[in-house]
Amino acid sequence: MIDTHCHLTHAKFGDDADGAVARARAAGVTACVTIGTGVEDGIRARELARRHAGVVFATAGLDPFSSHAAGGAFDAAYDALVALLEEGGFCAVGEIGLDYHYDLDPRKVQAEWFERQLDLAARLDVPVVVHVREAHDDMAAILRSHSRNRGVIHSFTGGPADAERYLAIGWHLAFNGVVTFKNADEIRAAARLVPLDRILVETDSPYLAPNPKRGARCEPAFVVHTLQALAAVRGEDASVLEAATTSNARHLFRIGTR
Ligand SMILES: [Zn+2]
Repeated sequence: MIDTHCHLTHAKFGDDADGAVARARAAGVTACVTIGTGVEDGIRARELARRHAGVVFATAGLDPFSSHAAGGAFDAAYDALVALLEEGGFCAVGEIGLDYHYDLDPRKVQAEWFERQLDLAARLDVPVVVHVREAHDDMAAILRSHSRNRGVIHSFTGGPADAERYLAIGWHLAFNGVVTFKNADEIRAAARLVPLDRILVETDSPYLAPNPKRGARCEPAFVVHTLQALAAVRGEDASVLEAATTSNARHLFRIGTR
């Protein structure tokens, strides 16, 4: 299986990122996509990917937190991101998106940053890893108007109606440890209606450890628990879901196909 969203460069992994990759491999995880949030983090993600060629793959993007941190210097941060992505070594732009939970920047400004990076991904012909929190209406509208983009709604935590909107415009949905949490009935209802060719699994580690590891520092090996829980929710054989999510990840991110 493939963990399509982890943060192996996060400080919580310290010097244990290589250990986390080894434990993931031992648990049957064939590949991990480590997400670079910002230019510096993207460089670190790519270094890790080069050290674990064919196993770890990197992305880079200015998420709502790093673009907020860039403050008025967004143009400079964006230019640096373009230069970094054009160097190569990345399988996607992301994570990027809208976060109305923290609302760090005005929504109009968040949308502007997001849309510029969508256009960049379309130009570079790479998929997009989307972060969306409490912003499904605006997100669906933006993605609908950017039909050249493809990608994944990561850490999908909406309900069935939200899922339908993204599926209708061709996007993938990725589920993580939240699907194992007690109060996640709406998310499980959404997970049941995602077609087998549009579903992905992830950890979002070091956050959101799935049951029975809840409370621990999450790591890519734990995606095994999420996959099993998701298969049970969907009434599928875990091996069927594993094969499908792995194939979907390979095709979407164009990894492991060389
Ligand atoms: Zn993330």
